[in-house]
Amino acid sequence: MPEQKPAAHLDARDPWVLDTRELGRRAGLSRAVDRTMAVDEPLGVPDVITVPKGAEVQVDLLLESVVEGVLVSGTATAPLVGECSRCLDPISDEVEVEVTELFAYPDSTTDETTDEDEVSRLVDDRIDLQPLVRDAVVLALPLVPLCREDCAGLCTECGVKWADLEPGHGHEKIDPRWAALVERFDGDQTGDQPNGPEEQA
Ligand SMILES: [Zn+2]
Ligand SMILES: [Zn+2]
Repeated sequence: MPEQKPAAHLDARDPWVLDTRELGRRAGLSRAVDRTMAVDEPLGVPDVITVPKGAEVQVDLLLESVVEGVLVSGTATAPLVGECSRCLDPISDEVEVEVTELFAYPDSTTDETTDEDEVSRLVDDRIDLQPLVRDAVVLALPLVPLCREDCAGLCTECGVKWADLEPGHGHEKIDPRWAALVERFDGDQTGDQPNGPEEQA
């Protein structure tokens, strides 16, 4: 649910603000809205994954006049930048979210029976898309962004990306306290008879 500051004035020149007057409060009328708006602050988690400041968000929406207000539904698509949480490579991706939100008329039953923060409101017949789109995008961001689904990350010993390492890459490093034991174990192995398990009780 988008945050809604109590009945603030909405600036008609704000690209995120839509005027719904042409729907004329006649239930059944609808209008398609297809536009691009820039975000004025980054969305998401800085240095992990964000829709960067100034990035263009593309919305493809249907505004429908319903009895209680204006129903907004459709999709928003935004570019993402971040860092792979396994290999630290830069990520540039895109997120697409679905949005559905009722903007209630100020004098509707919905308006009277719900709290300000429960349902969005029309303000002077205008809709502010920004809280709606911002909340939907932020919720859709990956908590653990990856450059690719199966990113193998980094070798914990040398910090090189597994993708850049030879197959079979490894580091021979044995704690000196165990080294003697390992040697003995290796010795036992080579001393094994090839015919089945040992029977040393
Ligand atoms: Zn990665
Ligand atoms: Zn390594």
